Amino acid sequence: MAVSGRSVRGLTRRSVLSSAGALAAGWALEGCGYQSQLFLVGSAPTAETPQEAWSGSRVARYRPLGRTGFEMSDISFGCAGLSDPAVVRRAIERGINYFDTSPDYSHAQSERALGEGIRGVPRDALFVASKLCTPDGHLRNETPVARVIEAVESSLRRIGTDHLDLVHVHAVNSIDRLMAPSLHEAFDRLREAGKVRFLGVSSHTPNLEAVMHHAVDVGRFDVIMVAYNFENWPDLSNVFRKAHERGVGVVAMKTLKGAHHTHLADFEPTERTSFAQAAFSWVLENPDVSGLVVSIRELAQIDEYLYASGKRLSDENAALLGRYDRLVTRSYCRPGCGECLERCPHGVPIDDVLRYRMYAENYGRTDEAMRLYARVDPARRADRCASCDAPCAPACRFGLPIRERLVQTERLLRPA
Ligand code: SF4
Ligand code: SF4
Repeated sequence: MAVSGRSVRGLTRRSVLSSAGALAAGWALEGCGYQSQLFLVGSAPTAETPQEAWSGSRVARYRPLGRTGFEMSDISFGCAGLSDPAVVRRAIERGINYFDTSPDYSHAQSERALGEGIRGVPRDALFVASKLCTPDGHLRNETPVARVIEAVESSLRRIGTDHLDLVHVHAVNSIDRLMAPSLHEAFDRLREAGKVRFLGVSSHTPNLEAVMHHAVDVGRFDVIMVAYNFENWPDLSNVFRKAHERGVGVVAMKTLKGAHHTHLADFEPTERTSFAQAAFSWVLENPDVSGLVVSIRELAQIDEYLYASGKRLSDENAALLGRYDRLVTRSYCRPGCGECLERCPHGVPIDDVLRYRMYAENYGRTDEAMRLYARVDPARRADRCASCDAPCAPACRFGLPIRERLVQTERLLRPA
């Protein structure tokens, strides 16, 4: 049941948009050129004052996942940071039927907890997605086919299932990675063996737009999973529309735009709606989006998040998001941007480092953030920034004080 557009949608989305103003260790990570293993790790924050009305919320709408034939819960379960199978069971009771995990979420603990949570549930009632990945990190492009197959079979054992409904080529930052022959050959063999059903691609890295256009055009991918939130930059609406027309499912992630609001003293949500509910409604106003995944680790989040299922974006909530956007616009490093990277003579991975800072500051995952930062090549760490005149700064259209934020991040996350 597709969600149709409505005239208010354009107005409210525009009102939000106008407010914007605008590694690696080990063989598994080499060659992928991308260091983050945590793009969904960290639970999104729960509202500080849960409302009585949210209690017992259920999925109110299911939407087609492209040509897969599956109708996914509009608000679905991201398993980053998951450790409690009871949360999965509660989510299923409330109607969530789509689960997204990865071997590198909590060093495979997420896959194990998901497997325990879905045990006993008819397998065809659920859609289980994971990644071409290992608990230690991403598979490089040249990983031998047999090793890729082995990685997926390990996921199957951990989850306790005979097949994955969807497997993503993970952390894609280039067409070369998107189309890496060994990854595709492994997928084809796994599909022939009935161990995987559909192929997807997940990314929130630079070159996002070009990668996603290619993924839709090439015809091999059934689902794209993309960072998408209420600022909508880079503008992916054309990619989503084309994907929808060609039967490619679109799953949105990072829908809370960093969720800095818990740290903004002057940010007050409305009384009736949480920030997350408003953000989800904005994403789901786009009829080309199949559904969204949000990291869920606590039972209370199910009540809060599912309260937004099937609900339209109100003008009041659009205004709430616009206000948040104005507050964070100069501190939020946009997924899929990377426009400043080539300006740095030392090759500091600015976007990655600022994302690690977000994991520590906004998700409370300081240990994970420090672990990731410690993996950055010492010659490319942000300690370079203190004595630099910041040629990177003019490249940021959002006016992030890049040098200042990197210097702070180095102090926050530097290895002992
Ligand atoms: S301030 Fe830091 S990131 Fe920017 S150019 Fe200088 S060393 Fe590179
Ligand atoms: S600092 Fe600015 S230019 Fe650099 S990646 Fe982030 S948003 Fe883009």
